[in-house]
Amino acid sequence: MALFAQIPSEDDTRVFEIKSPVTLESIGQFQAATDDEVRAAVDRARKAQREWATRSFAERAEVMWRLVDQFVERQDDIVELVIKETGKTLNEAITMEVMAPCMQISHYAKRAKDYLATTTKRPKGIMRFSKKVTLHYQPLGVVGLITPWNGPVALAANPLAQALMAGNAVIHKPSEVTPFSAVLLRELCDAAGLPKDLYQVVQGDGATGAALIDAGIDKVSFTGSVATGRKVGAACGRNLIPVTLELGGKDAMIVCADADLDRAADGAVRGSFFNTGHYCCGTERVYVPEAIYEPFVEKVVEMTKPLTQATTGASDIGAVFWDKQMDIIEDHMRDAREKGASVLVGGERNRSLSGYYFPATVVTDVDHTMDLMRKETFGPIVAIQKVRDEEEAMELANDSEYGLSGNVWTTDLDKGAALGERMVTGSVSVNDIAVTYGVPEAPFGGVKESGVGQVNGEVGIRGYCHVHPVIVDTTKKAQGGYPYTEESAEGMRKMVKTVFGNKLLRRLFV
Ligand code: NAD
Repeated sequence: MALFAQIPSEDDTRVFEIKSPVTLESIGQFQAATDDEVRAAVDRARKAQREWATRSFAERAEVMWRLVDQFVERQDDIVELVIKETGKTLNEAITMEVMAPCMQISHYAKRAKDYLATTTKRPKGIMRFSKKVTLHYQPLGVVGLITPWNGPVALAANPLAQALMAGNAVIHKPSEVTPFSAVLLRELCDAAGLPKDLYQVVQGDGATGAALIDAGIDKVSFTGSVATGRKVGAACGRNLIPVTLELGGKDAMIVCADADLDRAADGAVRGSFFNTGHYCCGTERVYVPEAIYEPFVEKVVEMTKPLTQATTGASDIGAVFWDKQMDIIEDHMRDAREKGASVLVGGERNRSLSGYYFPATVVTDVDHTMDLMRKETFGPIVAIQKVRDEEEAMELANDSEYGLSGNVWTTDLDKGAALGERMVTGSVSVNDIAVTYGVPEAPFGGVKESGVGQVNGEVGIRGYCHVHPVIVDTTKKAQGGYPYTEESAEGMRKMVKTVFGNKLLRRLFV
């Protein structure tokens, strides 16, 4: 049964119905915005943004602090809606969709003024005697925010807070599978006193997202799959607008022979099962040296078996958020089994529950011929491959088209950091599951097919700005230069030779 379907219509309107993955019952319908409506939203946003850009950081922050108040006051409503829409567990709904946005919004309310402070300094080298450079962080204008379904509030609220604190307006195209979370987020913004039209939601599917990119916006902040990311990148290229692409992953976990096995097994379980495995930085592949393989697998199995699954949300593993993802998980498991994988726990859809549920699963005897080790599965599966040693683990970890994040487990922290540096990924954690998204000082983004650009913290919020340098000449005389003559050309030639031909002078000059 499809959880997301278009309702037949006699005119041009496109109406969709959403069913909950928990009950498989309808939770509502929504109408997709037309291209004209999207363009009108952008026009309104542009007007609202002009006034917002004149407000001080303190004034913008005031609204953000009130938004945090809204999250606190309405946390039960957020949790209830997110669980209905996604089927994630109660604990995950609170930590990911309430606590994380509170932390993110607070961070930018407090720090944006430092990240985006106007700075004036003398340039380095010879220029210091004649120039002064001032860097202004100017808002870009109207930002298009296109988001996925796995963190419907968190993955919108975080870029939203950054874009707004930087002085932009935002038009949000949420996932067609989780449209109502975005409606609630807008309600919270309205109640917080965010000026009208500064944050608007346009509902719809991929066609609506494509229309938004073509509607005259100034930047796209995209989070989603690699396949869509390619289309979004191409459309932004056509429109000559900047874009960050936060895409899929296939994170590897390297367990060193000296790792604390209890801690590492706990990391494998948390990293693979968090958010039903619907986590871009979820652990999708675990490489374990043969010396510790048996006890490690035993511990993972021991920790997995008692995990519960229920439709109430009060359990350890939530629902698979929509039917398409269930198909992918089941396909990867079928392929792995056919190629010789052993399923030690779980492995089959949990049909004892009415909704879309796949249980916590542990798979061994896997290798890189299997989709389970090569393609993004996005399900609650710990897939463990036995390797000779850490070197083979590193080779396999880097043998992937993806490069989002990864983690290394060892009691030797220096070795962990050194191994981490060799992982070809956007970021790495040592002795923890991927935590980069939650640490603003660490820019977050993927390499290879996992994305383009980085988000969060100073780097991220500056991405919602044009850095506008104003260079003032502090001398009091005309630069001169004309007319060009043979002599002036000869003078330049000599200067190149004198300055850059001298090992000491060329260092002082720049
Ligand atoms: P998706 O690519 O199917 O959809 C993402 C969004 O793009 C949706 O809102 C969708 O309607 C829209 N869209 C689809 N076609 C479009 C087009 N042609 N132009 C503009 N917009 C279009 O992704 P999904 O299935 O919703 O999300 C799951 C994926 O997101 C996974 O691959 C996951 O790893 C990834 N993800 C990445 C991060 C990260 O930060 N790197 C975070 C969360 C999820």
